Amino acid sequence: MGKLIDPYGREIDYLRVSVIDKCNLKCFYCVPDDVGSCSPNVSEVMSLEEIINISKAAAALGIKKVRLTGGEPLVRKDIVEMVSKISQIEGIDDISLTTNGVLLNKLAPALVKAGLTRVNISLDSLNPENFKKITRGGALKKTQEGIQAALKAGLTPVKINVVAMKGINDGEIEEFVKLTVENDLHVRFIEYMPISKSHQKQWGECFIPLSEIQGLCEKIGPLEKQFSFHGNGPADYYRIQGAKGLVGFISPVSRHFCGQCNRLRITSDGKIKPCLFSMDEIDLIEAGGDQEKIKQLFLQSLKFRPDPHQVDKNPDSRFNCSKREMQQIGG
Ligand code: SAM
Ligand code: SF4
Repeated sequence: MGKLIDPYGREIDYLRVSVIDKCNLKCFYCVPDDVGSCSPNVSEVMSLEEIINISKAAAALGIKKVRLTGGEPLVRKDIVEMVSKISQIEGIDDISLTTNGVLLNKLAPALVKAGLTRVNISLDSLNPENFKKITRGGALKKTQEGIQAALKAGLTPVKINVVAMKGINDGEIEEFVKLTVENDLHVRFIEYMPISKSHQKQWGECFIPLSEIQGLCEKIGPLEKQFSFHGNGPADYYRIQGAKGLVGFISPVSRHFCGQCNRLRITSDGKIKPCLFSMDEIDLIEAGGDQEKIKQLFLQSLKFRPDPHQVDKNPDSRFNCSKREMQQIGG
């Protein structure tokens, strides 16, 4: 059976799996007002066995990198076992997590032992009050301890994801950039994405294009583009002269990177999402664990991959591009 190459010639070697739709935080840009909690009326969450079966079939089709996300992946009781089992699948050479870091202090050593290679940690404010507001109740200290634990466990470079938002955290951009001077951290600013209708009002109020964020970063000093550094994904990287870490920019809305898209997503209830901004979904659970059927479904999903997505061009489709909220998709 073939590799995962879509009709536009893009080869897919990266799988992002949302392993749970629940979370221990309620970030307002991820969980909209009318939901109010990170466990809305959603469907089943995949079992460990289902996730392993899907990962095995994906590896047989050329997937080399798997990222576990959510919801909050560390809330799952079997997360260490999951990392361990995926890291033993032939062909998978990189297993990473996207997390809010709250439980990382406790789990980082066990995750590394299980085979975790990298971690991205979401942190949208360095101010305890603002952090609490954005996450609707979270404690900044816990995430900061998680970042220290990741550094100590050797998960370097630790990547920090910051969703940049007007009037919310744009006053903290310089402080975030300064973090990269003394620490081996990659601070990545991400544009706020209009995932569903429930985001319409606040997205209109808070969206900032990354060209503006980049301008704010440059107040600290000139940013040197790191041409040789691409990481694994869509970020453009820069360095403040002499800094230990890097500053990255991810602009899914204003400057899409669909031409280089090398990923497929699996929702927390086991559906392939061929594009983040697409209504199409392909159910893998109906394959009942049969490896050949799962592989066929992966191959069939490729015809639904657009190039490019239409979010920046078509305002009508902007808030109609997903049936789901972000915590089921995983970012
Ligand atoms: N709970 C984990 C975390 O926060 O890192 C993993 C799940 S979270 C859905 C994955 C990523 O999606 C995070 O970096 C988060 O900031 C980002 N995210 C969520 N909603 C977003 C939105 N509307 N626009 C841009 N990024 C978003
Ligand atoms: Fe939870 Fe992550 Fe969404 Fe925040 S961004 S509510 S931490 S899933």
